[in-house]
Amino acid sequence: MTVVELENVTFAYGEQPAVEDVSLQVEEGDFLGLVGPNGSGKTTLLQLMLGLLRPDSGTIELFGDPVSTFDDGERIGYVSQQATSGGGSMPVTVREAVTMGRFAHVGHGRLTDDDRAIVDDALETVDITELADRQVNQLSGGQRQRAYIARALASEADLLALDEPTVGVDAESRDAFYQLLESLNDDGITIILIEHDIGVVTDRATRIACINTELYHHGDTESFVESDALTEAYGATGQVVHHHH
Ligand code: ADP
Repeated sequence: MTVVELENVTFAYGEQPAVEDVSLQVEEGDFLGLVGPNGSGKTTLLQLMLGLLRPDSGTIELFGDPVSTFDDGERIGYVSQQATSGGGSMPVTVREAVTMGRFAHVGHGRLTDDDRAIVDDALETVDITELADRQVNQLSGGQRQRAYIARALASEADLLALDEPTVGVDAESRDAFYQLLESLNDDGITIILIEHDIGVVTDRATRIACINTELYHHGDTESFVESDALTEAYGATGQVVHHHH
C-alpha cells in the first residue's frame, strides 16, 4: 500500500519556492530518510506530506486519499522540531498524554482494560514506564521523544514522521532512540525521518529522498550512497555534509 504519494508538488512561502516539482511515493513499511542541506525544504516537504501545508500546485495523497480530505489523524504520529525542544506541550503526565493517543484511536467513550493494557505496552515499548507519572514538560528532549512515540503507538499509528528528533539528545540516548525506530519499522510501522547526520540515515533508512528545493534522489539507500546526489544537493550551498563516522 502507498502511504504517501506526491506528484509534481510545488510550494512557496513567498516568491521563492521552498519545494519545487517534487514527485515521490512512500510505501508501507518504508523507512525513508529525508536529507538535504539546511533550508533545503525538508520540514516543508514533510508538512506537505502530512497535510499541514497545502501545495501551490501538484497533488498529495495520504493512505490513498487526497490529503485535503484526510481525517484519520490518529494514523499518523508526528514529532515536530518544536516537540523536541519543549514548546507546546501541555501540563499533563506521560501516562495521560499516551492515554490521549488511545482515546484518539477508540473515539469517544470509555477506555476498556484492554485499552489501558495497550497504553502500558506503549510505555514499555519505548522504555518510559518509570516516567509515566511525570509531567511531559519536565522530561528531557530524548524522554519527550519517546513519550510522543508511545502516544503514536497507543493510537496504533501506521506512520511515524520525525523532524530531527535527536537534536539536543546525547549520543548514547540517540543510538538507543534510533534502535527503537528500527525495531518499530521491523514491526511494520512506516517511518519518515529528517536527520542532518547523513551517516545515521544511511545506516538505518531503507530509502532516501535527498532534496534541495528540487528532488536530487529518491530510491533505495544503496543507490543513494553510490550516487552523486548528496554532493550535488549540497553543491551550491557550501554547507558541510554531516557524517557521524
Ligand atoms: P529545512 O527543513 O531543510 O531546513 P525548511 O523547509 O525549514 O528547510 O525551509 C525551506 C525554506 O523555506 C528556507 O529558505 C526557509 O527559510 C523558508 N521557510 C521555512 N519556513 C518558513 C516560513 N514559515 N515562512 C517563510 N519562509 C519559510
